[in-house]
Amino acid sequence: MADDFDVIVIGAGPGGATIAALCAKAGLRVLLAEKNDQAGGKALTVRRKGTGYEMWPVIGIPAGPSRYDELLAKLDLTDQVPVSVPTPEARATGGIVYHGNDGVWRRMAGGADASANPLENYAAAFGLTTEDMQPMIEMATAVLALTDDDLAAMETQTTLDYLDQFGLPAGVMAYIGVLLNMFFLIGPDRIPASEGIRVCVRGFTLVGGESVYFRGGIGRVMEVCAQFVADNGGVYMTRAKVQRILVEEGRVAGIETANGTFRAPIVISNAGIQPTVLNLAGKENFPSEYVSYVEGLEPSWGIVGWRYFLDGPVFPPAGLAFGDKSWWTTERYEQARAGDWPDVPQLYWSTPGLWDPTIAPADGGQVVLIGTLSDPDPDSPMSEEGIRRVHETSLEAWPALGKHLVRKEAYTTKSVSAMTRDSAVPGAGGECIGIAQTMEQEGSNKPDPRTPLEGLYIVGCDAGGKGAATHQAVDSGFRVAEMVLDDLGVRSPA
Ligand SMILES: Cc1cc2nc3c(=O)[nH]c(=O)nc-3n(C[C@H](O)[C@H](O)[C@H](O)COP(=O)(O)OP(=O)(O)OC[C@H]3O[C@@H](n4cnc5c(N)ncnc54)[C@H](O)[C@@H]3O)c2cc1C
Repeated sequence: MADDFDVIVIGAGPGGATIAALCAKAGLRVLLAEKNDQAGGKALTVRRKGTGYEMWPVIGIPAGPSRYDELLAKLDLTDQVPVSVPTPEARATGGIVYHGNDGVWRRMAGGADASANPLENYAAAFGLTTEDMQPMIEMATAVLALTDDDLAAMETQTTLDYLDQFGLPAGVMAYIGVLLNMFFLIGPDRIPASEGIRVCVRGFTLVGGESVYFRGGIGRVMEVCAQFVADNGGVYMTRAKVQRILVEEGRVAGIETANGTFRAPIVISNAGIQPTVLNLAGKENFPSEYVSYVEGLEPSWGIVGWRYFLDGPVFPPAGLAFGDKSWWTTERYEQARAGDWPDVPQLYWSTPGLWDPTIAPADGGQVVLIGTLSDPDPDSPMSEEGIRRVHETSLEAWPALGKHLVRKEAYTTKSVSAMTRDSAVPGAGGECIGIAQTMEQEGSNKPDPRTPLEGLYIVGCDAGGKGAATHQAVDSGFRVAEMVLDDLGVRSPA
């Protein structure tokens, strides 16, 4: 039977939309099948009555170096999705909200502002003396001296072990710990230093600074990539949940959706490695050791929280609220799972209208997305406890919230799973990133995007990429595109 397409991509999340557009750019006939009614995956931006926002806090972190820029430039789409940044006045209202041991909440601009000295920035936030600053200076000097080769060689050391040698002040360690938790959604005791130090400590706190957002919302990048497929000889189908990957004579042959069956010799899945292998393709099509390996992969943690609809300005553009004990190692995560939470849960929030005024509510109000860490299990009782604590702490940290709150909607790991990846093994589905970036699953231990089933590839945060969150997924889109084009003998576009 003749093929309908050269390549089929399942899912238009950051990884799927990237690879679909790059394959279309290389001249392949691409079908991009997305189950939701728009592209974006976990970073999808909704627009309601002129207001735009994500379903939960999503900002591209860190800003530079960004593969988003590279992607948009390669597709000649930069003008369609310019970068949006908050005004300095908005940023100055406090991206770091620190709950000191004296019980007082202190606020300051978050992120390393390239125009200021980041160390001075942190000293002011955490009330540090010159003496307290010494370990920070030593840490910053050591990290900035690391070459890319040095960092790559740190794959077998944990990020926490690396940081512990400096004896950082508690507030600074809490800030870095919370950042690491939010970038990687696991404890720094599990994150290889090669990624944790490269991406978060060097890339964000010391060099890159800031975060990135796009005009029209972060999901707009994925929308223009999906449209690029349709504009370049391919087909972009929404509301097209893939029910099964067709396998014939030991290799991939296409996909089955409620809209019909489509044939291609290559299927690239952004639906998550576990749902793809265990449900869509079926265990029977893989060697049993590979099935056991996939079943055993550990998901990242989840995030749960609220969408706040406010009738006035309360929150800054984005940031973190925390106290000294709010950052979680594996041990603290397990304690919280057992019901023993820290006094202050770490909060992460974004206010999309302050990044991009074109999507802000017309009445001067705010939509704020806020959340804290949780178990990725869509059925975990931790979700309910998490959202309760998020609201309680938000009311304390932003006293004006109570006065301006018009409406609030909760999201949990069940909502995340329903909107993005199916739960294919017990305890997984609502993960924030994909499989956890632990020492056992990161770097050279990361799953191979080429699966043992001929013609089936994995793209997105589960395979092929480096970096944090959406950046990792876009990076995977680039790298897996190279693999697929190589395997097909097609030249990659310049
Ligand atoms: C609460 C929360 C906060 C976050 N905050 C940030 C942040 O601030 N910054 C950041 O960079 N990242 C953030 N992330 C993480 C980021 O969104 C993910 O890392 C990223 O979206 C993963 O990209 P992906 O391409 O791997 O997959 P996904 O984004 O999960 O996309 C997968 C796509 O596949 C589709 N799909 C799945 N199954 C099927 C099927 N059977 N048929 C058709 N389509 C299917 C889904 O609908 C989806 O569109 C956050 C995530 C969450 C949940």
